[in-house]
Amino acid sequence: MDDPFVTNDRLRGCTTGQRNRNLKDLSTQKPVRILSLAFHKRINMPALRFKLALHYQIIIALIAGVFFGYLTPDTVAYTNWIGDVFLRGLNMVVVPLILLSITTGVASVGSGDNLGRLGLKTMGYYLLSTLIAILTGFFLVNLIKPGVGAELGFKMPVDNLSAITDSFGTTLIKIVPSNIFEALSQGQMLSIIFFAILLGYFITKMDEKPQKLLVDVFNAALDAIMKITLFVIRFTPIGVFSIAAKVIAQQIQMGNQISEVFSRLGLYFITVLIGLMIHGFITLPLTVKLLGHANPIKHMKNMTTPLLTAFSTSSSNATLPLTMEAVEFEDGVSNKIASFTLPLGATVNMNGTALYECVAVMFIAQAYGVDLSFGQQLIVIFTALLAAIGSAGIPMAGLVMMTVVLKAVGLPLEGIGLILAVDRVLDMFRTTINVYGDTCCAVIIAKSEGEVLKV
Ligand code: ASP
Repeated sequence: MDDPFVTNDRLRGCTTGQRNRNLKDLSTQKPVRILSLAFHKRINMPALRFKLALHYQIIIALIAGVFFGYLTPDTVAYTNWIGDVFLRGLNMVVVPLILLSITTGVASVGSGDNLGRLGLKTMGYYLLSTLIAILTGFFLVNLIKPGVGAELGFKMPVDNLSAITDSFGTTLIKIVPSNIFEALSQGQMLSIIFFAILLGYFITKMDEKPQKLLVDVFNAALDAIMKITLFVIRFTPIGVFSIAAKVIAQQIQMGNQISEVFSRLGLYFITVLIGLMIHGFITLPLTVKLLGHANPIKHMKNMTTPLLTAFSTSSSNATLPLTMEAVEFEDGVSNKIASFTLPLGATVNMNGTALYECVAVMFIAQAYGVDLSFGQQLIVIFTALLAAIGSAGIPMAGLVMMTVVLKAVGLPLEGIGLILAVDRVLDMFRTTINVYGDTCCAVIIAKSEGEVLKV
């Protein structure tokens, strides 16, 4: 007997005439065959897979993953590979996507003046929104004072913290890659972005014939990578399921004292969370409305898929392929703007991380009973900005970069041990705000360049 799905598929995509003929053919078949076909037709299994919008699939997967990880933490070891493969798939496309999209984007921007204007506006917005995020955190942590009276005994050990970070100057120097292939293979985003901008810019300075050839080749390669990206994105629900289960199982295995952790760090956790909510639901939408003259609610809805992915993966870099897809296809931002603002944003624009850096450092100071002078508080604000810019778009990068802020005001690096217990979960929230901030910038810049968007 034929496979009913195959037969059912035969009815799909036909003209009405063909469809009637096919149905007539089918009507000559045995009743049991038709019943089985009718059953499959009614529940329409193959179609069902694609009917549910991706973001609903991701929400369901996220909830299922949380339950799975909570109820059977030991079984999660068998499903971890799914999340690992998914993240590898996303990371696989990130570097070629950044290189190709920035190169083609910059090449299509045209003159150096246009590029300079776009760069200034983008960096201006990123700096401004990050500063507002830090000030929001600063205000809240001084209002709520979550660290006052916190117990210093409850500290987790952290090793080699001072050896981890480069100075800000070294980071700046390293933007110029000494070997672009090394930068590509190691995923050094700032160096890749720098090289891609140069490449795109100097392509526009070439003679017309080779210029057209190169632009065509890069555009064609970008199309191919975009297709691979869309393919990888289709696996987001199962990837998210596995990652969510893993995170929950880890939290459970890390300590059964979750309630104890929350009773000690609850106030700190809530302070960061309130700050992120204010920034995500008030400040950023306001910038979309006032600076971008766009509909912030529609924009946020359109971003559901990348935001949920950012939440689950805690990585702006890994989410970048989905962010670009959503901003271009859902909001209608041109590839030219999206490919310039989003990779740059995933690397340097971290509103959520900046807010968290500020709250965490002030929390540590409060816990150690250190009264920071006005000048030191300004240093916290400034270095939190640098730390956020310097954080890589990977899980818990912000925690490592916090050493920069702590060192700047002379607080003990082991203070990080105080907040470690809740950091993985906070990372999920701050990464979501980081990615959301990038998408808001893309919309605002596109509008300011006169693009007609769907939001
Ligand atoms: N995980 C964050 C991101 O990828 C960075 C951080 O740790 O704050 O955006």
